[in-house]
Amino acid sequence: MTTSYRTAGAPYPEDAPVSQALFDRAQAIVPGGVNSPVRAFRAVGGVPRFMAYGDGPWMVDADGRRYVDLVCSWGPLIHGQAHPAIVAAVQAAATRGTSFGTPTEGEVELAEEIVRRTPVEQVRLVNSGTEATMTAIRLARGFTGRSKIVKFAGCYHGHVDALLAAAGSGVATLGLPDSPGVTGAAASETIVAPYNDVAAVESIFAERDDIAAIITEAAPGNMGVVAPRDGFNRRLAEIAHANGALLIVDEVMTGFRVSAGGWAGLEPVDADLFTYGKVMGGGLPAAAFGGRAEIMSRLAPAGPVYQAGTLSGNPLACAAGLTSLRLADAAVYQRLDALSATVGKLASEALTAEGVAHRLSYAGNMFSIFFTDAEVVDYDSAKTQNAAAFKAFFHEMLSRGVYLPPSAFESWFVSTALNDEALETIGAALPAAARAAAAAGGAA
Ligand SMILES: *Cc1c(COP(=O)(O)O)cnc(C)c1O
Repeated sequence: MTTSYRTAGAPYPEDAPVSQALFDRAQAIVPGGVNSPVRAFRAVGGVPRFMAYGDGPWMVDADGRRYVDLVCSWGPLIHGQAHPAIVAAVQAAATRGTSFGTPTEGEVELAEEIVRRTPVEQVRLVNSGTEATMTAIRLARGFTGRSKIVKFAGCYHGHVDALLAAAGSGVATLGLPDSPGVTGAAASETIVAPYNDVAAVESIFAERDDIAAIITEAAPGNMGVVAPRDGFNRRLAEIAHANGALLIVDEVMTGFRVSAGGWAGLEPVDADLFTYGKVMGGGLPAAAFGGRAEIMSRLAPAGPVYQAGTLSGNPLACAAGLTSLRLADAAVYQRLDALSATVGKLASEALTAEGVAHRLSYAGNMFSIFFTDAEVVDYDSAKTQNAAAFKAFFHEMLSRGVYLPPSAFESWFVSTALNDEALETIGAALPAAARAAAAAGGAA
C-alpha cells in the first residue's frame, strides 16, 4: 500500500492513467467495468477513479490523488474512512472466525441496538438493502394475503424486480425507463404514484382492495434529496391502515444517519415495517428489516413466510455495524448536522456568486444540489435540473480534490471526520466549479 499522495494545490490532470488501466482491465471482464452502475461515471463522463485506500475524510485513488470523500460509500461511513475502532473490531472478529453459519452473540447485540434505537419490536439481519426491501414486501404480502404494492416515482428500494419501476438514480442516470428482464407480471404488481402526492395515493386506494403495502423512502435520497412534505409519511400510514394495507418505510439510507433512530427519530411514523442498511453495517455488508412482532413472527422458522441467508448476520459485518452504531452518540449527530449545513452553505454561496440557478435541498443531514430554478418536490421536478451544469461542476471539483457523487440524482454525504483541511479543500475548489457550471449553461 502506498501512503504518498499529491494534494490538490494545482488541479489534477484530466487523465488518470492508473485508474484508466484498471478500468480497461475491468471492462474486458466485468459488464461496464463496475459492480454497481453509477460507479462507472456514465452520467458525468471520464474515467471512474479506482480507490486504493481511505483515511478519515480522505480517499486516495490508484493514481495517488487525494480527495475529500463526500460520498462515504453512498452513506454508510458516518465516521469517515478506516475509523480505527471499526477497523480494530473487524480485525478482532476476523481473528475469531469469519463465519459460522450458526447464531452468534454479535447478531443479538446488533439486533438489540437496532430495536433500542427504532420503533421496531423484532428485526432480522440480511446482507443488503435490496434483500431487506424484497423480504419486507414478501412479508407484507404474506401477512395481508394481498399482492399489489404502491411505490413512488423516484424512490429507489434496491434492484428488486417489482420495485424497479421509476426507481430514481441508477435508472435515471442511465436514462433507462424500465429494466428489461422484469416480467410484465412483476411490473403489474407495482403501482407508481408521484412523490409527496397524498391525493394520488388516496385515489389509488379508492379504486382497489388488493393492495398489500405502500413502500416509501423515509426521506428520498435517490432522486437527489427530496424531503417529505410535513405529515406525508403519517398520512401514508393512515391511508394504508384505513384500507387494510401495511406501510413499509425504507430507512436504508436515512437509518442511523439522520438521527440515532433514523428518520423515525426526527418524525415519528406509525409504520408496520422498516428497512435498514448502509450505516448499520459500518462499511461492511449488513442490512435489516423489522417491525411489529405480530408481523415479524410470520417469518420462518416462527411462521410460514420464508427467508434465509448463508452469510446473514456475518460476524465481521456485525462487529463493524455494532461499533459504528455505538460510536454514534448525540454529539455525532450534532456534528453531522453542522457539517452538512456548512458544506451545503459553502456550495450554495459559490453557485450564487456565479449566478448559477440551483436549489439546495435537505432531508436531515442528507442534502443535494439541484441545478434548476424549479422547486423540487418529486421526481418530475428533480428531472428539470441541468445535467450539463452538474457534469462541469462535478469534474472541476474532482480535479481539485473533492469527490462528489457522480450523478445529479444522488445525495451528498458528510462524515464526522471532515476536518478543517478537508473543509478548506472544498471551499477552495468551489469557486472554479461554480464558474464551470455557469459556463456550461447553468447561469440563470
Ligand atoms: C441503497 C438503498 C437501497 C438498496 O440497498 P443495497 O444495499 O444497495 O441493496 C434500498 N433502499 C434505499 C432507500 C437505499 O438508499
